[in-house]
Amino acid sequence: MERTRFILDENEMPTSWYNIQADLPKPLPPALHPATGKPVTPDDLKPIFPMELIKQEVSRERWIEIPEEVQEVYKLWRPTPLFRAHRLEKALDTPAKIFYKYEGMSPPGSHKPNTAVAQAYYNKKEGIKRITTETGAGQWGSALSFAGACFGIEIKVYMVRASYDQKPYRRVMMETWGGKCVPSPSPDTKVGRAILEKDPNCPGSLGIAISEAIEDCMTCDDTHYALGSVLNHVLLHQTVIGQEAKKQMEMADAYPDIIIGCVGGGSNFAGMFLPFVKDKIEGKKPDLRIINVEPASCPTLTKGPYVYDFGDSAGLTPLLKMYTLGHDFIPPPVHAGGLRYHGMAPIICHLYNLGLVEAQSVHQLAAFEAGVKFARTEGIISAPEPNHAIKVLIDEALKCKESGEKKTILLAHSGHGHVDMAAYDAYLSGKLTDYAYPEQGIKEALRNLPRL
Ligand SMILES: *Cc1c(COP(=O)(O)O)cnc(C)c1O
Repeated sequence: MERTRFILDENEMPTSWYNIQADLPKPLPPALHPATGKPVTPDDLKPIFPMELIKQEVSRERWIEIPEEVQEVYKLWRPTPLFRAHRLEKALDTPAKIFYKYEGMSPPGSHKPNTAVAQAYYNKKEGIKRITTETGAGQWGSALSFAGACFGIEIKVYMVRASYDQKPYRRVMMETWGGKCVPSPSPDTKVGRAILEKDPNCPGSLGIAISEAIEDCMTCDDTHYALGSVLNHVLLHQTVIGQEAKKQMEMADAYPDIIIGCVGGGSNFAGMFLPFVKDKIEGKKPDLRIINVEPASCPTLTKGPYVYDFGDSAGLTPLLKMYTLGHDFIPPPVHAGGLRYHGMAPIICHLYNLGLVEAQSVHQLAAFEAGVKFARTEGIISAPEPNHAIKVLIDEALKCKESGEKKTILLAHSGHGHVDMAAYDAYLSGKLTDYAYPEQGIKEALRNLPRL
């Protein structure tokens, strides 16, 4: 009988993060200051982020040491397990070998504390007392609240209204860890008040919530802001996932032909594939396929142009070169709240533009159908976000069945769906629907792209 679980010892946990910027075939387009059009300087970012993170954002060092205090917290749930999906393979009757790396073992239930803990640590070291942030599905807000509890920092979370209403238990998790959570748009900021005046029922978006959190941070002295995805330092922190997965695949005597993951801002999947894309760039595995999966209702990579845009809807952030649907695009309120973001991590966009990674989009009903199949074979009830990746995983495994190819497929599984039972309830009772591709909304939002 072949093994099912590949477990690393505590002392095999990575002690450095891997920085792809050391190995990119072409350097990353810089973030630009919206007023001057020039690359942003560390001084521009100082009011928002601790200096260590600003340095990591632009660093070209290949390996960046993980502070011991951060490693100590990681050990509450890391290294995470890698599974061989024997039971799913059998149910699909596929010759493909399927593996998945599971990040749902962390206290908040996703990959997000990999960066939340690091960010809280660097802020604490700089004497910061309070951190503001946004959250989509509530995963990031709960991860940062957990990290705040680890280092004694106050956390204020602006939570996208659509998710705040759909997922009340995420708020309770944040409050249990000592965080404070309000629905966004909120009356607590100028940006929020202006949007509420125009549309009191606005479902919110990650872009709006980011604007609120940044405004709050800029108006308080001892307060910084933290972002849960998109930025280079966030992707950097997530590379513990891929480094562990590489060792575990070695234990299984396997190397992936295809790696699949879901992307909102892109952090969990980049954390998985960046250590592997290094092999592809170096020619060790030139035919490796890396598939980014996004929701059909927010199809950033598959439908957006590659241009400079703001990271938030009010235009407070630096301009990032991204595939984008326009910074004021408000995606339909799909249950995969963590995937409702108008842009994408500049690192992923750059690799996509260079042809090193691919992208596909998936509708939410198909994603839940795949997620239920996964739960009934592998047992794990997945968050709506990784269900999108599981749909593509099953498609690829079925292609192998047709062709008879014994491909090795590796899935980045970003977290469990225990706080998403309302979404499963809607799916199982036939009430869940797909949203049409929001063509008009995207067209309008793309008209408001910043002009350089
Ligand atoms: C936040 C979240 C995502 C999307 O964020 P990325 O930065 O793209 O990883 C995906 N899955 C889960 C479980 C999440 O909580």
